[in-house]
Amino acid sequence: MKHFPIFVNLVGQKVLVAGVGETAVAKLRLILKTEAEVHVFGQDAVDQVQAWADAGRVTLHNRVLKPEDCWGATLVYAAQDDAALDARVARIGRAAGAMVNIVDNLQDSMFITPAIVDRDPVTVAIGTEGAAPVLARHIKKTVEESLPPSLGLLARLGQAFRGAVEVLPMGRKRRDFWSKFYFERGPLALAEGGEVAVKAELETLLAQTIAAKRSPGRVDLVGAGPGDPELLTLKARKLMHEADVVLHDQLVTRDILELARREAIVIETGKKGFGPSWKQEEINDLLVSHAAQGHHVVRLKSGDPAVFGRLDEEMDALDAAGVDWAIVPGITAASAAAANTRVSLTQRGRNSALQFLTAHDVNGFADQQWRDLAKPDAVAAVYMGKKAATFLRGRLLMHGASGDVPVTVVENASRPDQRILQATLMTLPEVLAASDVSGPAVMLLGLAPRAAVEAAMDLDISEMEQA
Ligand code: SAH
Repeated sequence: MKHFPIFVNLVGQKVLVAGVGETAVAKLRLILKTEAEVHVFGQDAVDQVQAWADAGRVTLHNRVLKPEDCWGATLVYAAQDDAALDARVARIGRAAGAMVNIVDNLQDSMFITPAIVDRDPVTVAIGTEGAAPVLARHIKKTVEESLPPSLGLLARLGQAFRGAVEVLPMGRKRRDFWSKFYFERGPLALAEGGEVAVKAELETLLAQTIAAKRSPGRVDLVGAGPGDPELLTLKARKLMHEADVVLHDQLVTRDILELARREAIVIETGKKGFGPSWKQEEINDLLVSHAAQGHHVVRLKSGDPAVFGRLDEEMDALDAAGVDWAIVPGITAASAAAANTRVSLTQRGRNSALQFLTAHDVNGFADQQWRDLAKPDAVAAVYMGKKAATFLRGRLLMHGASGDVPVTVVENASRPDQRILQATLMTLPEVLAASDVSGPAVMLLGLAPRAAVEAAMDLDISEMEQA
């Protein structure tokens, strides 16, 4: 982003426009929506500029803009349709410390004027940094159509009522009041009885909201998928948009957290500053206490919450506290890893079973059904397995597995920094060490990337041909 969007308060501020032709008129139309003190400079003004001057809406100076005019100016527009003259205005405006715009000259402007949808006090500004004016126009049209003209009036009436609404506690309840007003009761009242009815409706709705029982909090245990925001479910997305509080694992990516509501409290439960990790009990307590305050909590877990996510402990704690909860599944790391290595996790005639296993459990290296896993066509997705690679290899070889069994390590599956490492059971620990795998990694035991399988088949065929 090169241009940062802000809304500048222009009440009583000096805005200068050098130019009195049609280019200036186009900018003046926008500027005159504000309460700025507008000065226009130039000779032979077109009728519209003259009319604005006659009506006292702008001060017209029949001369070129001089350096001293710029003192104390907030914005200066150079709109003379003459590159040399505009450059001069820009120079003196800048020297006086004003923000300068040269119309239709993105390069030399300090700011640009966006396309605007005006439902004062609601203003939507659209910018494409000059990349695609057609796109800006299209977006403007779409937004214009989606915002009823009455929105501005409702917002103004709502604004005047904000003080009264402060009796409601901040957060959910206040938000519910306003969304009911803007999206249900306000428009209805306006259509039925105009401004007077809207004012009465605000009072009624407030009284009803105060009288209403506090809404109970709830917790959604939501799968965030392996990292790519596009792999979130629609439901996860929707809940993140509604949540008052988002509690997330360390593995949940920033791109996904961006989707949380801006006012939401976002808490990372992975690490406390640079200190030790959170204890599960502390997470449980936090879930319960936020729900008790009437908050809607989204507990975001990487991948699928039911796969190595300590889900039971949280469900039990919520049940014990009588908090309402639900699970929203997500795409587990093994699915993303398989997709991106272009393999199927099951295959007719090869493996009719698939294991998800963790190499670590509460007691250290996890014990498994080694005999089954060591069978020639066994397929397993190994989570949290980086440190256990040597242990895994040892146990599997001991139970009769071949050292040639393929193992594909997928680090940061679905993320921009994803890496796919090809190993065999025998080489796995060495491959991991040599590749310095520092991100989360899942290992697909018994599977090689499709490309590698195809290459090996080609090799077999050419060897056969040679033979
Ligand atoms: N619930 C998660 C797993 C949590 S356990 C899921 O369903 O995916 C944490 C382990 O998941 C990590 O040690 C790693 O083995 C795996 N993992 C999570 N995200 C991953 C990713 N983007 N790429 C590879 N492995 C990942």
